[in-house]
Amino acid sequence: MTADIPEIKALKDRKPIFWINPTLHSAADALAGLPLGQDDMSAAERRLAWFAPLLAALFPELGKTGGIIESAVVPVPAMQAALAPNLPGRIWIKADHDLPVSGSVKARGGIYEVLLFAENLAREKGLLASGEDASRLADDEVRNLFGKYTVAVGSTGNLGLSIGTMAAALGFKAVVHMSADAKDWKKHRLRNRGVTVVEHDADYGRAVQAGRLEAAKDPNAYFVDDENSEALFLGYSVAARRLQIQFRDLGVAVDRDHPLFVYLPCGVGGAPGGIAFGLKQVFGDRVHCFFAEPVQAPCMLLALATGAIAPVADLGLTLTTEADGLAVGRASERVVGLIRNLVSGIFTVPDTDLFCHLGMLFNQEAIRIESSAAAGFGGPARLIQTSSGRDYLEKQRLTDRLDGATHLIWSTGGRLVPADEFNGFLRRRDASA
Ligand SMILES: *Cc1c(COP(=O)(O)O)cnc(C)c1O
Repeated sequence: MTADIPEIKALKDRKPIFWINPTLHSAADALAGLPLGQDDMSAAERRLAWFAPLLAALFPELGKTGGIIESAVVPVPAMQAALAPNLPGRIWIKADHDLPVSGSVKARGGIYEVLLFAENLAREKGLLASGEDASRLADDEVRNLFGKYTVAVGSTGNLGLSIGTMAAALGFKAVVHMSADAKDWKKHRLRNRGVTVVEHDADYGRAVQAGRLEAAKDPNAYFVDDENSEALFLGYSVAARRLQIQFRDLGVAVDRDHPLFVYLPCGVGGAPGGIAFGLKQVFGDRVHCFFAEPVQAPCMLLALATGAIAPVADLGLTLTTEADGLAVGRASERVVGLIRNLVSGIFTVPDTDLFCHLGMLFNQEAIRIESSAAAGFGGPARLIQTSSGRDYLEKQRLTDRLDGATHLIWSTGGRLVPADEFNGFLRRRDASA
């Protein structure tokens, strides 16, 4: 099936590639055919605004934003000088590594889905009237109801942190099925919050499967299905309009002469997919979204390049990567269907690059991120330097507009990484230097 696709050989050989999506459509065409649109994104935004007072009450760290979970857009001039000194345009990072509450991009989608479930449950049981505000969900009567329900999820770590933290804060029982890749500190942190952590000696797909089966046996259990969730996807998409406002406030133009290139680490696809979907709604053809995957786990590239959703094990790959958040063997079918015509391309990254870029960001900008979050940093140089990247720029008529370009690297996690863990990342960098 796949043998005659040239990229497949490179994937099998674990050679980093920069792949351009031949089925990229114009934003208008790509979005017109989808079952989700602007209205769904706006509804998710409104719901998060409605929940904000509740979140501010549950998490004091959200006081200063009034309960909105958001990250900054920051320029990284020293990093740019070290990483890609001749790059035309300017590199920024979208600092989701610093998102409050759960310290990763999963705070967007994961928390949104738990809130949605909580709201629906309270309404269904007659404990939340229309017009009431969200702080009602913190009342004892409602918490007692939530205490009879379990929120479960399968995760490589960060989704579990996000779902477990939010579910426990609302009074739900929370169960997180962790894959073998999950870091111990993430498990400890959850257990300290009263979350049940079930450890699986298996990959992410199997941990999700186990969680799904167990939750199906319990009528009072709700399973957050990372492989198939509209709520997660929409929760992630909300980043886009907020980014538009941030760019406007910063005076960063996105238009014909100022293209926006965005580099997003990808696991099962929900986070980068939801964000890319939102960005296309907001910026249309002016934004170009590239996903980054480990050379050992290019599940989205495999799905988009072959048109079939297969496990990367079919290529002889083993998911052996320190990018725990990206160690996913099979892409989400739902996400593939939503993004296949709006992603510009995908590139693959060896672990040595992750640690190199993570260390560079720390040295140049004193910013601490986790290994998965470093996957996007090689993107700008590879877009400009690889032949596939240059072809893309030609075809999109961008070659003479690069001086005005914005390169936005989405740094997806890191805030909660303990200091000794982070020092371990730096040692990995030194070991491979
Ligand atoms: C989960 C995760 C991603 C990717 O999100 P998916 O929805 O799995 O594609 C990227 N970076 C970090 C740090 C993550 O935890």
